[in-house]
Amino acid sequence: MKKVILVKNGEIVLKGLNRSTFEDILIKNMRRRLSPLGKFEFLKSQSTIIAWPEDDGIDFESAEERMRRVFGIVGFSVAAVCDKNMDSIRQTALEFLGGDLQNVRTFKVNAKRSDKKFEKTSPEICAEVGGFLLSRFPHLKVDVHEPQLIVTVEVRDTVLIHGNQQKGAGGLPVGSSGRACLLLSGGIDSPVAGYMMSKRGLILDAVHFASPPYTSKRAEQKVRDLAKLVARWSGRINFMLVPFTELQEAIRDHVPEDMFTLVMRRMMMRIAARLAENDGCKALITGESLGQVASQTIDSLAVTNAASSLPVFRPLIGMDKDEIIEIARRIDTFETSLLPYEDCCTVFTPKHPKTRPTVELLEEAEAAFDFAPLIDRAVEGTRFTSIDAC
Ligand code: ATP
Ligand code: MG
Repeated sequence: MKKVILVKNGEIVLKGLNRSTFEDILIKNMRRRLSPLGKFEFLKSQSTIIAWPEDDGIDFESAEERMRRVFGIVGFSVAAVCDKNMDSIRQTALEFLGGDLQNVRTFKVNAKRSDKKFEKTSPEICAEVGGFLLSRFPHLKVDVHEPQLIVTVEVRDTVLIHGNQQKGAGGLPVGSSGRACLLLSGGIDSPVAGYMMSKRGLILDAVHFASPPYTSKRAEQKVRDLAKLVARWSGRINFMLVPFTELQEAIRDHVPEDMFTLVMRRMMMRIAARLAENDGCKALITGESLGQVASQTIDSLAVTNAASSLPVFRPLIGMDKDEIIEIARRIDTFETSLLPYEDCCTVFTPKHPKTRPTVELLEEAEAAFDFAPLIDRAVEGTRFTSIDAC
């Protein structure tokens, strides 16, 4: 039986004249995500995209799994293709959805006829296919309000038949909003922040600060693994590893202890912004959440922000930890985030961090030492890799 993937795109339909550009980006992303499974041709019609396999033997289970993680898709279904006559429609519905119909008690048939020349009207198609399926499955009842299974028959250039639509990832196609740079630690929050902004259509770069020997090779590998998990949603990530030891030691040696963390966060912002701008990013992304720790009070966030030359997106700012964890579990990053390797944030932490800092205080503390050459060296020493999910 010939099968295709029928995709309903989401907010894209609201975008008026830009719609076609958005759809093209979505198709490019779908093509890339499906390419390991075989070749597909893509057809656009109204708010639907049809992925039509050119090869036989496509693994549709894997295809569904992949489609669930493509942003810009509201819902999708695998549909069977059949000839344009009632006999073929009845037989294909029986063959393709028989298994599903065995397992439910209520159903209805929904017909959409965009080819007005077809021999039957939509109500006639519903009545005929519904009657036929009832005769084959006597345990079934028709429920037009809340059926367990909706059998949809779409009469287009060809006829497509499918069951219930599966939920897509929503959001906007990655690439439709430009590019931004995620500050990725090994914690729970930043991978979630990356996922959320990529869902709004951003291509992600990721920057990670490592301070060997205070931080280990395994901590670095954990962050790469997290980037790989985020890439299952966002697509390929340009990963940048910044050597941060020298700067952290200088901070330890030249800055008052209660400002260690804040100066370090400001250095991260400066370096990340430079690397980000070099790669065409228009914003930074962090996993900060208001009040979560001393460095995330409103005053601390203000002084951190002041060090960045780019806008800083903080999608978790208003979320509780348990809400963040719920998303981390759903996107499969939680277990990896829990692995107990140290982050550079946890070396040289002050006993009593400042919680009411001001930009003036921080600027004064930073003026005690010439950090600029160290920032340059960190940027120059950064190593780049491309991280992809598959
Ligand atoms: P996370 O769970 O994301 O690590 P957190 O609650 O532990 O966040 P912090 O450690 O204060 O909070 O870090 C705040 C944000 O700073 C992180 O969400 C991340 O965006 C960024 N960040 C922290 N450490 C690093 C690092 N080593 N490399 C890159 N970014 C970092
Ligand atoms: Mg952290």
